[in-house]
Amino acid sequence: MKKILKPALYVHIPFCNYICPYCSFTKVFYDQDFADRYLTYLEKELTKYSNFLFKSIYIGGGTPTSLSHTQLERLFLILKKYQSENYFITIESNPELTEDKIEVLEKYNVKRISIGVQTFNQIFQKQINRFTTPEEISSLINCLHKHGISDINLDLIYGFNHETIDDVIGDLKIFTSLDIKHISTYCLQVEEMSIFYNKKYPAPDQDEARKQYDAICDYLKIKGFYRYEVSNFAKKGFESRHNLIYWNDQEYGGVGLGASSYINRIRRTSTKSLSSYLKGKYDDYVEPVDDNSDKFYFIMLGLRLEQGFALDEYQRRFKANFLDEYHDKISPLLDDGNLVIKNGYIALREDDLYIADYFLRKILF
Ligand code: SF4
Repeated sequence: MKKILKPALYVHIPFCNYICPYCSFTKVFYDQDFADRYLTYLEKELTKYSNFLFKSIYIGGGTPTSLSHTQLERLFLILKKYQSENYFITIESNPELTEDKIEVLEKYNVKRISIGVQTFNQIFQKQINRFTTPEEISSLINCLHKHGISDINLDLIYGFNHETIDDVIGDLKIFTSLDIKHISTYCLQVEEMSIFYNKKYPAPDQDEARKQYDAICDYLKIKGFYRYEVSNFAKKGFESRHNLIYWNDQEYGGVGLGASSYINRIRRTSTKSLSSYLKGKYDDYVEPVDDNSDKFYFIMLGLRLEQGFALDEYQRRFKANFLDEYHDKISPLLDDGNLVIKNGYIALREDDLYIADYFLRKILF
């Protein structure tokens, strides 16, 4: 039977070698036996997509590279039959990635890697208990290049307690001196379920965070990284093609603990309970998509992009004119210049992207 081509597949590997105090993701400490069993159930869960091939596969976590060399091989072999002809694999990694595992990534044709650096500033490294040096990351990047992986993203966190704009720029000076193509920035969130939350770590001051964000945008622009989404900056041509599938509200499958999917007009989220997962009880939340919720996601995701969304794509997808349909809500925003229409796209004004959520509430509720 001919398989159906789908844009993307997300694969969640929930294991980590250490737990970061700010983290509220679905993760557990790495354990070899659990990881072996997890891969067995992941393989079973994937059979729900036995009719599909995926163009982009994103292996996230957790820390996928916390898997052993053998387990990584096993994971890529499991994924093989779900890859389309010109597949593109991205993997998340910690900075401690070793060359023997990089060789596995090369062998299975991984094209992009996202590394959770967060900060090189020793004061803030101490707060998050992670102590990677620029020299270590530089040599990791050299090693990745040597093995043919040059599409490299580094994650940056800003908004630490007592962090200044100079501190943030200090980090960015090092980030941009490295041979990378993409930087994802995250303002520190002190979320429930995190160690910081339990320890009452102060949440960043919103005004300060905004100033830091603006400084990041200005600095990265000068350094040739253009902002294409609220928090994401890339050299031209190196935008995250997987995340663009999400932001353009295209279909994606999802497997693994807590993974979401949007396939055939159904949104699903898998269970976050490892014990349920290891009994093969995968689905936790299922949301059928009607036109209204479909529009909601399309607008909400599209307006987070610097270029916004194409008005004719809205027309094609929903057989409706966005400007007419949302006339009452968007007219004041167009009049005030918060929304702009350019080359057939509608987008938030550059300066308003940081507070996209505020404008989305005005449009969508
Ligand atoms: S931030 Fe990443 S590496 Fe740290 S605990 Fe969370 S999932 Fe694991």
